[in-house]
Amino acid sequence: MLLVSFDGFRWDYDRDVDTPNLDAMARDGVKAHYVTPPYLTITSPTHFTLLTGLYIENHGVIHNMWFNTTSTEKKSYYATQFQNDWWDNGSLPIWITAQRQGLKAGSLHFPGTAASYQGEVVMVREVEPWLYNFANETLWKRNVDEVMDWFSRRDVDFVSLYFGEPDGVGHKFGPDSPQRHAMVRQVDRTVGYMRRAVESAGLAGRLNIIITADHGMSTVYHGAGVKQITLSKIPGFSFSDVAFHLVDYGPSGMLLPKPGRLDKVYNVLKGAHPHLHVYKKEEMPARLHFSRHDRILPIVLWADPGYLINGYIPVQSNKGEHGFDNQHMDMKPFFRAAGPAFRKNLEVGPFETVNIYPLMCHILGIRPEVNDGHLNATKHMLASTGEDIQGGMSTEDMALTGLAAVVGFLAAVVIVLVSVSVYKRKKAAKGGLMGSVAHNNIDDFEKETAEHTTF
Ligand SMILES: [Zn+2]
Repeated sequence: MLLVSFDGFRWDYDRDVDTPNLDAMARDGVKAHYVTPPYLTITSPTHFTLLTGLYIENHGVIHNMWFNTTSTEKKSYYATQFQNDWWDNGSLPIWITAQRQGLKAGSLHFPGTAASYQGEVVMVREVEPWLYNFANETLWKRNVDEVMDWFSRRDVDFVSLYFGEPDGVGHKFGPDSPQRHAMVRQVDRTVGYMRRAVESAGLAGRLNIIITADHGMSTVYHGAGVKQITLSKIPGFSFSDVAFHLVDYGPSGMLLPKPGRLDKVYNVLKGAHPHLHVYKKEEMPARLHFSRHDRILPIVLWADPGYLINGYIPVQSNKGEHGFDNQHMDMKPFFRAAGPAFRKNLEVGPFETVNIYPLMCHILGIRPEVNDGHLNATKHMLASTGEDIQGGMSTEDMALTGLAAVVGFLAAVVIVLVSVSVYKRKKAAKGGLMGSVAHNNIDDFEKETAEHTTF
């Protein structure tokens, strides 16, 4: 199994650029309309969700930047990759789980690769070097070759592979720029190169590939006519009421008010700007799953699409940004999957990226850790792996291919009848089928997800 992330590849980037290789992969496998990342829609937190199946409040990698509210120290995205305690805070990425269950895992440049987890590291790894040229196509091909070598000569079972684009051009030039179009063509060429490399390594019949991203990208409003959000300009707000702040980082921010000043800070900010959302941590909308972790500061801020949150003065000049509400369509990544485990030429509806983890665990045949995802959300993509799963996917197929409602209804009735009879047969046979193994796993997920609420 190979998990590939192209940072910041928005779900619709294949619409205004020719992407023959991504299109071929969709014909040979599965394409999702889009996927929904967790909130906060920034790189390290959303990648750690891909690796754990956990919402960000449950895995604790709540920001790209490590910070200490007492010393007020902050570390950059890159420095935070090596800040072990930031990553190793109770959740296990899929590499470690796979290794503990007898598989070999590898990772190239994927966020989280440099850290150790409960004393263990991913067995075969390459950490992104400092000042790496993450847009260089020659290096991309070299990285693909390296990963193919791991599969064919080092016998790894799972690899996560990361590319830093088209995020870079999306930030610098904006998501509608010619530079972004050109980078999507480069991504597409690399996908073609990767799939030919799989063929020539003789892995085509064995290797499953998922290609997705961590978040999308949205155009930032600049210019004299835009009423920017600058906290220091808000009447009644003062940074002297705040012990620690994390702002000037796109459209999101967090504040730790000084003792006794929480309500003062909250009240002056709430409603102060038409495009600024202000929440006390415990009042955050539940759908964002960004409230429960100790690291999340008492006041959480986010801006509407197009707007950024500035501290003292506007210092952010990017033409594109992410970090917005994960409901915003511009934040949705793309998703492709192909390989022997997947159905062919299937387009599926959207699902949350927490569900990719249980799908990968299922394909690898490992028992997942406690997670927020569910195989039910993705199992309709799978080629025949048991009767239970086939029953589940056919109903969604009907909805997706737009068959007449009557036909769909009749098919659903047939499926229900078949499923019931299969279930009865299995009960009588007391398991042994693949399908019944999958079914037990699903029961486990449900139990585990329920237990999770006690965190
Ligand atoms: Zn990113």
